[in-house]
This record gives sequence, structure tokens and C-alpha cells, in this order.
Amino acid sequence: MSNIAFIGLGNMGGPMAANLIRKGHTVTGFDLSETALKVLESAGGQTAGSALDAAKSADVIISMLPSGKHVAELYSEDFISTLKPNTLLIDSSTIDAVTARSVATLAISKGCKMIDAPVSGGTGGAQAGTLTFIVGGKQEDYEKARPILKCMGQNIFHAGESGAGQVAKICNNMLLAIHMIGTSEAINLGVKHGLDPKILSEIMQKSSGKNWSLEVYNPYPGVMENAPASRAYSGGFAVDLMAKDLGLAAEAGLETKTSTPLGNTALNLYRIWSETGHGKTDFSSILQFLNGKGNI
Ligand code: NAD
Repeated sequence: MSNIAFIGLGNMGGPMAANLIRKGHTVTGFDLSETALKVLESAGGQTAGSALDAAKSADVIISMLPSGKHVAELYSEDFISTLKPNTLLIDSSTIDAVTARSVATLAISKGCKMIDAPVSGGTGGAQAGTLTFIVGGKQEDYEKARPILKCMGQNIFHAGESGAGQVAKICNNMLLAIHMIGTSEAINLGVKHGLDPKILSEIMQKSSGKNWSLEVYNPYPGVMENAPASRAYSGGFAVDLMAKDLGLAAEAGLETKTSTPLGNTALNLYRIWSETGHGKTDFSSILQFLNGKGNI
């Protein structure tokens, strides 16, 4: 069993850390939010007053932070220099591949091991321990991390060298945004024509429109009891985080001169929705933008 430091205990990190504890690991967590720290304590974890305090005697550090800026700030030269040699760093945040590669290069130069291991599966997957991990990094580091990742997830993929996990993740999230918007558009159209959103969703789930948004994350309130739409779009994957991921996909497109017309449209829709005060709501709330209500 490992001594794990967990930095970033939000909607995803909190339940991921709880699963590590459940599987017998010792977890010391740090978050800027007092509430997140209390939740970790109630799950049987220890808390620290800073990221460094949590990390300095750990064998493994896992970070689950909002963006590349937070990850680069955490893994500073000073921070990495104080870690035990051979500490395994696993960054599961969704960030740009350039930052992922640069922090990994720094960590490796200081005698640590590092992989990028962003996840898919949402808060439901984080709670159930069924996340998909998409790893970028050396084969040996991927193999070392696998048993730890298995405590939080079901499918563990090795996408390639450092940064490859992040590239695969943003391709996935661009597709997720597109099918969430498409699903919302279709349900909204049906409802405007008098259809019951539950029945329409069932029909499309068994037809060629079937997709993950319909199957586990229905954007229409009341259709799926456990989906964020049925709790006023709270506690899921924030609009601002989706807009960030779509921005990363757009940048990746520019870098390689690749056209991503639907991804760019999705980015613009999520930006407008964020600018009108919905940045903290779950990304499935885009249905409310499409139906013109503008409030949830
Ligand atoms: P969140 O905002 O709920 O959690 C982030 C946590 O990081 C917060 O508790 C915040 O207080 C903490 N934090 C910020 N700066 C910190 C710092 N310097 N030190 C310590 N803690 C700090 O976000 P989330 O939904 O948990 O997402 C985290 C990451 O996972 C993001 O990169 C997101 O894109 C990715 N992700 C989210 C989902 C999802 O469904 N929510 C799914 C897959 C991937």
C-alpha cells in the first residue's frame, strides 16, 4: 500500500481520494477549500496545511486541479526538489500537452517519475471508481501507476509518450461537448413539439442517435434521477471547465492546422453560456441555453 498525497479534492478529486482510502492506501490531501478537506477527513483521509506538507513524505502524488496554470504552479522547481527521489507524480487534471510535457521534463530531471493521466467518466465515474484513465509517459512509469489508477478506474489506457494522454483527452472532450449540444438540441426540439423528454430519450437511446450524454447524463431535468440536470445542474462538470477543454482543442487544432468546425462552434456556445453567468453550472445546462430560458 502506498503513501499518497492528493492535491485538489473537488468534484472529481474528492471521490477519487475516497476510493484510494477504501482500497487501503494512506491518503494525505490538500485543497484550498476547507469544505473539501472536511469531506476527505470524513472519508478517513488525513489533511495537510499545504501541498508541500502533504507531498514531502509521499511515494505517490496525484493532482486533480482545474487547469494548466494550477498544475504548473504546483509542480514548481522548489516543490519538486523537496520530494523523495523516485516519487511518482500523476497529474489527472485536464490540461494542455505543452504544460504536461514541461512539468514532466522538470520532474524527471530532479529524479522523480511523472505521467499525465487525465480521466473520463464524470463525477459518477469518480464516485463509483469506474473512471477511464488516459496515460501519457514512459511505459515503466505507466506500469508503476497502473495498480494505483485501478483503485479509481476501470479502463486504463497508455496513449503514448508524455502529453499523449492530454491530447487523447481533449479529442474525447471535444466530441463529448458536440454530442451533449446535439443531444440537448434534439430533446429541446422534441419537447417544443409536445413530446415527453423521457420517452424521446428512450427512443433515441435505442436508435442511431444513442450516445453517452443520452445514456448516463441526460441534460433534461427529471429524465435521469442521478444526472446533474435533475439537481439544478449542480455538482458535475462545470461549463467553465468544458470551455477550457474546448479552448485546448482549438489551440491543438491551430498548432497542426487541423479544422475542428464543430469543436469551435461548441467552444463559442459554451463561452456565451459562461459569460451570461452559468460558468459554474454543469455543462449539460447548455440545454437551457438552447431553449432560450437563460436561467436554471
Ligand atoms: P473542481 O473545481 O470541482 O475541483 C478543483 C479543486 O482544486 C477545487 O476543490 C479547488 O479548491 C482545488 N484547487 C484549486 N487550486 C488549488 C491549489 N493551488 N491547491 C490545492 N487545491 C486547489 O473541478 P473538478 O470538476 O474536480 O475538475 C478537476 C479537473 O478534472 C479539471 O482539470 C477538469 O477539467 C477535469 N475533469 C473533470 C471532470 C468532471 O466531470 N468534473 C471529468 C473529467 C475531468
